[in-house]
Amino acid sequence: MKSKVYIETFGCQMNVADTERAATGLRKAGYEMTSSATTADVVLFNTCSVRERAERKVLRRIGEVRKLSSPTTHKRPLIGVMGCVAQLEGQSIFDKTPAVDLIIGTQATDRIPSLIERVQGGEAGVIDLDERQEGEVWDVSPAERRSPYVAFVPIIEGCNKFCSFCIVPYSRGREKSRGAREIVNEVLRLRSLGYKEVHLIGQNVNSYRPRSMEGLEDYPGATPFSRLLRAVANTRMDRIKFTTSFPRDFHPDIVSALEEYPNLCDWVHLPAQSGSDRILKSMRRGHNSEDYLKRVEGIKNSKRRLALTSDIIVGFPGETAEDFAATMRLVEKCEYDALYIFKYSKRAGTPAARLDDAVSEDEKTTRFMALEELQTSVQGKLYNAYIGRKVSVLVERESARSSEDMAGHSTCHKVVNFKANQTRPGDIVEVLITEGKPNSLYGELIS
Ligand code: SF4
Repeated sequence: MKSKVYIETFGCQMNVADTERAATGLRKAGYEMTSSATTADVVLFNTCSVRERAERKVLRRIGEVRKLSSPTTHKRPLIGVMGCVAQLEGQSIFDKTPAVDLIIGTQATDRIPSLIERVQGGEAGVIDLDERQEGEVWDVSPAERRSPYVAFVPIIEGCNKFCSFCIVPYSRGREKSRGAREIVNEVLRLRSLGYKEVHLIGQNVNSYRPRSMEGLEDYPGATPFSRLLRAVANTRMDRIKFTTSFPRDFHPDIVSALEEYPNLCDWVHLPAQSGSDRILKSMRRGHNSEDYLKRVEGIKNSKRRLALTSDIIVGFPGETAEDFAATMRLVEKCEYDALYIFKYSKRAGTPAARLDDAVSEDEKTTRFMALEELQTSVQGKLYNAYIGRKVSVLVERESARSSEDMAGHSTCHKVVNFKANQTRPGDIVEVLITEGKPNSLYGELIS
């Protein structure tokens, strides 16, 4: 009998998608998946290296797991590290953490079953940091997906942008796009299985550049990504969302596609990172605030009201009070539906880690709070403007606040709570908004 495997996932939706893919391959190879480290013979940590805190958490978890005992061998479980930390740190993980038996790079997901076999066969220091092999297809079984209604569909892996603060191009490698036909077929399969929503995901989805236009022949568009959006919309999947978009590659034709197909959801996530041109240059973002605002104008002027969300880093090295004021002005102008604010933290191995002129922790906190306060007030007005409007909600679960309420996301990607009235997870319902909360909407079911 093959071993039981548990995968613990840290980080972004790409890691979640990788875990689903790894579990699919393991089950095909005869392994059993289990939902807890305590019942596993093999424990794999799918790691994130974007923040140092996440890395430290993995090390702590490895320490805890090495004290467990495998139900089959009664020895400690076999421990593997996969994902971004594995790719970046490689061999040195064995030196730092001797309890680790196996290191699996970001592109070795499909080879995990044979790597485990090698460790179980007695080989020490098994490590695979190689590229994906030619012909590997993205194969995820519905049984391994997190939700039976919402599915992540990766369309591009890696990143070529090399923003100076970011480790992703080193951990995930260069951009590689999946073929459009494969993506469309996956969405069609998900639809036939009853999925209601797909998220086309990638570090920068709108940098999508497949090797051939196969599968896109019947879909016009100014860029491969806007053509792909039309092709995926044509599958008649109920709701299609996509994240993340890179500002420089955000072509106005994306907005046109959203206007043409109602099942392309009314939400764009477009990280600005800063409002200061000096800082944007130092971040090597490849856009300035004017370029960014031009994209935002296109989104805001759409015939359809499109929700806009963003990411901002405060306290990047050398960020002066004036630079920060420019960020505040940008945020005020953009009127984001939601904003993810991060305090800059140094990532070893990135160009920004070599910059001095650090902003003090206190100052970062002050800026964080000022920006948060601004966003809260902008968001409050925006959410209150929903009162009296109908939104379409995909019901996902019981509300965390009350067992009488259900919760889900709107097409514009807002959390909506509402009186349950016999709705079930997976239903798509219309909700009339009666109240705007700081980070969610509340309403009544109307269908
Ligand atoms: S675009 Fe920049 S921030 Fe985003 S993944 Fe690539 S390097 Fe990182």
